[in-house]
Amino acid sequence: MTASGVRVRIAPSPTGEPHVGTAYIALFNYLFAKKHGGEFILRIEDTDATRSTPEFETKVLDALKWCGLEWKEGPDIGGPYGPYRQSDRKDMYQPYAQELLDKGHAFRCFCTPERLEQMRESQRAAGKPPKYDGLCLTLKAEEVTSRMAAGETTVIRMKIPTEGSCDFTDGVYGDVSIPWDSVDMQVLIKADGMPTYHMANVIDDHLMKITHVARGEEWLASVPKHILLYRYFGWDQPVFMHLSLMRNADKSKLSKRKNPTSISYYSALGYIPEALMNFLGLFFIQIAEGEELLDMDELSEKFDPENLSKAGAIFDIQKLDWLNGRWIREKLSEEDFRARVLTWAMENDRLMAGLRLSQTRISKLGELPDLAGFLLKSDLGLQPSDFAKIKSPPEEILEILNTVQPDLEKILEWNVETIEAELRAVADRMGKKLKVVVAPLFVAVSGSSRSLPLFDSMAILGRSVVRQRLKLAAQAVAALVGSK
Ligand code: GLU
Repeated sequence: MTASGVRVRIAPSPTGEPHVGTAYIALFNYLFAKKHGGEFILRIEDTDATRSTPEFETKVLDALKWCGLEWKEGPDIGGPYGPYRQSDRKDMYQPYAQELLDKGHAFRCFCTPERLEQMRESQRAAGKPPKYDGLCLTLKAEEVTSRMAAGETTVIRMKIPTEGSCDFTDGVYGDVSIPWDSVDMQVLIKADGMPTYHMANVIDDHLMKITHVARGEEWLASVPKHILLYRYFGWDQPVFMHLSLMRNADKSKLSKRKNPTSISYYSALGYIPEALMNFLGLFFIQIAEGEELLDMDELSEKFDPENLSKAGAIFDIQKLDWLNGRWIREKLSEEDFRARVLTWAMENDRLMAGLRLSQTRISKLGELPDLAGFLLKSDLGLQPSDFAKIKSPPEEILEILNTVQPDLEKILEWNVETIEAELRAVADRMGKKLKVVVAPLFVAVSGSSRSLPLFDSMAILGRSVVRQRLKLAAQAVAALVGSK
C-alpha cells in the first residue's frame, strides 16, 4: 500500500475491439494515481461469458500497454489481491450472495425468461419503465427449498427499499438523488452461478481495496445498487467519479459509425501513443491556448479532477492530428522518429506480410510503393472516379458496400479465412458472383483495382482500418449516385 492509500482501477470487459473510451477512462485513473502517489490496477470483467473472449482480452491489454498506461497489478502480472480476472474469481462471489440471502437483503427468484418478457411487455404497454415486479419476493422459505430441490432454475436478486431515495455525492456530478422506486431488483447471481457485473464489481472493488471509482457516466444510474450493496455488506464505499462520455462533433455519443473508435485504428495509422494520451489528457486539465503539448508527467502535474466538465468530451480528430503532428515534429529526436517508423511498419506483421504478397507480383523493386503502399497509407484519398472502371453501376456498388459493412462486424476472429468465408456468404445472400462483390471492395480497400489479394490485404489492414475505408468509399460512391 502506498502512503496515500489511493487505489484506482480500469475494469474493461473484453467484449470487443479496445475502444478509445477505455483509454480515456484508463488515462484518468492512471493520472489520478500518479497525482496522488497511488496505485493503478487492471481488472478484467468478463462475467458476460457469451460476449467475452480471450482474444479481446489480449487486445485490450496490448492496446492499453501501447498507450503507455502501465498497471501495478493485473491478470498478466498478478498482485496481492488476485486473481484479476472475474471468471477466475467465480467461486469467491457465492459466499457473499449467501450472506445477503441469510441477512434477508436478497432473495431467490424462479421467474422464467418468458414470464419476465411478458411482464416487461405489459409494463411497456402501460408506459412504465421495465422493472422486476417482485413476484418471488414473498415466497416462503419452504417453497424456495422445495423448488430448488426439484431442480428449478433460480437467480438471486437484491432487495431494494420501497421508499425514499439514494442520495450521494459524485466527484463530477456533485449531489445526486435517485428515487429507490426507479431502481430495479438487480440480479446478483445468474442461473449459471456467475455473478452479474454489479455484484462482482462491488465485491472486487472492496476486496481489491479500491478507494476511488472513476468510470463512464453510463454507470451513474447504477450507483444506488452499488451503494446499497456496500451498505448490506457493512463496507465503506469508494468515492465515485463519473466522467462525461466522449462525443462526436455533433454531440452524439462517440460511435464507430461516425468516428473510428478502436485504439488499433489509431496505432495502425501511425498516431503516436503519447499524442493520443496528450489529446485525451487535455479533457482533464485547464490550460491556456499554446500550452497544449504535454507529456504524461506534465499531464499529471496539471491534472485537475475537481474541475471536470459534464458537457462531454468532443473527440475532434483534427485536433488529434494537429497534436500528433506536433509530437512528431517537436518531441521526437531523429533517432526516436526513425525507430518509431520502423516499429509502426512492422506492427501486426504489416510490412513482412505485404512483402510476402508482393514478391510474385513485381518485376522491379521500385514497383512496390504503388503496389503495396496502401498497406501503410493513412488516407487513400478515394475519389468517386476511382470507381468508374468497375462494371457494376454506382447503385449496385453502393448496395454492395453498404451490405458488406455490417457483415464484416459479425466476424469473430479477423483473418484471411474468416473474411473470405463472410464475403462468400454475403455474395450468396445477395445472389451475386463473388467477383462482382469484391471488385468495389478492392478499390475501397487499396485505392486501385490492381493490387494485392483482397482477403489478405483486409486481414493485414485490420478490421478498424477496413471499416473506415469502406465507409469513405461508400461516401465517395454515394456522391456518384447522387450526381446522376
Ligand atoms: N466493466 C465495466 C466497463 O467495461 C466497468 C465499469 C466500472 O468501471 O465499474 O465499462
